[in-house]
Amino acid sequence: MSTKSGVQHKRVLFSIIDDTDCATLENVRPVYDLLKKLGIVATKTVWPLRCLDRRNPWADSATLEDRLYADWIRNLDQEGFEIAFHGASAGSNVRERTLSGLERFQKVLDRLPVMHINHSRNQDNLYWGPARFDSPTVRAVVRGISRNREVRFEGHVPESPYYWGDLCTQSIKYCRNLTFPGVIDLCKVSRHMVYADPVRPLVPGWFSSCDAGDPARFVRLLQPRRVRYLVERGGTCLLYVHFGAGFTECGRVLPDVERIFRAIAEIPGARFVTASDLLDQCSDGLRKLQQLGKLGRARLEWQWLVRKMLSGGTG
Ligand SMILES: [Zn+2]
Repeated sequence: MSTKSGVQHKRVLFSIIDDTDCATLENVRPVYDLLKKLGIVATKTVWPLRCLDRRNPWADSATLEDRLYADWIRNLDQEGFEIAFHGASAGSNVRERTLSGLERFQKVLDRLPVMHINHSRNQDNLYWGPARFDSPTVRAVVRGISRNREVRFEGHVPESPYYWGDLCTQSIKYCRNLTFPGVIDLCKVSRHMVYADPVRPLVPGWFSSCDAGDPARFVRLLQPRRVRYLVERGGTCLLYVHFGAGFTECGRVLPDVERIFRAIAEIPGARFVTASDLLDQCSDGLRKLQQLGKLGRARLEWQWLVRKMLSGGTG
């Protein structure tokens, strides 16, 4: 890619997935207003339905049942942002709830979601908990350190009341698996940005992301030294964030966060795309999906486990 001055710049791809945990119009809209101003698009997950359990830590997050929020989400969609599914609600959803959630999604956005992200301890999560891993050792370690030890994730289990795997295959193309702390260039963890997984076939394309889950992690990950490294490599950065978890204060984007967004918006050669567009580009719209292979899969899982043990972060 060349600029007016004739200088060649490598292409750098940026994509952002915003997990809807704790999001309200008040606490996330300022971030999106800034992104729009800077010409940055993102993928925003939503819960279509209110959580029925008021003790759920995310019960006060906005949902598509809130009219003003639903209108705002529809506008974001029309402005080129991607809206993705985070399960039907913040709590575990039996099949009927998931069906109602997908119906509401379709009613508000006029289409079904293309991307799904599992949420925390929801029992309707697909292939979650230890079932995310092939390696028996990684599974055993995850089971040992997990606070979700007693939760059974059954979105992919046909006999379960939480099953919705068949509904998932009707529209979902992409689902996130591993999120890597301390990684700004995803090409570093695997040469496959998106991959098919024969052991987890209800989702056609699986992908990884870079953990920028809270403002502190975001600022640490996107410090100038690391961004320079990404630019020099012409890499791909798929950030996983929770904008509802403190990226704004009193209706304003945190100054450190704003500074970073302004800086990356000006990087020559930088392109900002929604997560599904990025994964479509990498897999030619799923037509060129590859599998990781045994060795590739093991490398991915072990890299993740080591980073996770060292610095925690998003699940
Ligand atoms: Zn979540």
